[in-house]
Amino acid sequence: MEVSGVATYEECLRTGTQQLRDAGIEEAALEARLMMMAVSGLSRTGLISAGTDPVPEDIAARFSEMLRERQTRRPLQHILGTAEFFGLEFLCDERALIPRPDSEVVAEAALRLIPEGAGVMVADLGTGTGCLLSAILANRPGTSGVGVEASAQAASLARENLARLGLAARAAVFEGSWADWPDWQAADLIVSNPPYIASAEIAGLAPEVRAHDPMAALDGGEDGLVAYREIIRLAGQHMKPGGWLVFEIGYDQKDAVSGQLELAEFTEIGSSKDLGGNDRAVWG
Ligand code: GLN
Repeated sequence: MEVSGVATYEECLRTGTQQLRDAGIEEAALEARLMMMAVSGLSRTGLISAGTDPVPEDIAARFSEMLRERQTRRPLQHILGTAEFFGLEFLCDERALIPRPDSEVVAEAALRLIPEGAGVMVADLGTGTGCLLSAILANRPGTSGVGVEASAQAASLARENLARLGLAARAAVFEGSWADWPDWQAADLIVSNPPYIASAEIAGLAPEVRAHDPMAALDGGEDGLVAYREIIRLAGQHMKPGGWLVFEIGYDQKDAVSGQLELAEFTEIGSSKDLGGNDRAVWG
């Protein structure tokens, strides 16, 4: 009898994991499993039950193709086309920064400042995929919002995500610079994950980030703080009294950003850490 050359799900996962590990990818087993789930349409438990079943040829071919792409250090989220953030699924590609789990604490901080049932207006400066804005709007039914985005490409992705999440009726995307956005006075809460990496540190980022996230979403200028200075200056000029400003920050930027908020006479300044224990959100 001829021995079949077809591999089982378990075998594919094992060789896939090894290939990713050899390419220097830390979460190799997890990523191989997520890729196999995506190409096979199986759930996590479905994949376990299918363990010793042969993998159909077309699925095995697509799995191999994904592995090849990931070995070039293209981010998993770009290969899968989606990323999960705050329990929501976002379309994800080179047009905007991939939503990061660390940023969920920024959405949480904003949500703590918005009372349940309040009809507030939320703005997200540099909305990218729209993940922060969407997470807030999805969890506060009375809110409306706007994503301000200078990149036409990112703005189109944000619109796609808002529509897909059923939030388009409550959210607009303003395509233009923060300074040109005409509705500063209308915002009750402004959230932003601006570019905050110091220019000199860009070269040291992981290849997935450096070569695939838009540079405009990463490069925060010489000291990494250029965007904060601009937003705080504009907020000081235009925001209504009592409005909240909520920032994502780099792990070592809490004192600098809080200090800028104080100088601009913001009060009730606070901060919170991400799950890794790094300072990640600052507000006032
Ligand atoms: N947290 C991102 C990173 O380190 C940076 C995002 C940003 O500059 N806003 O990859």
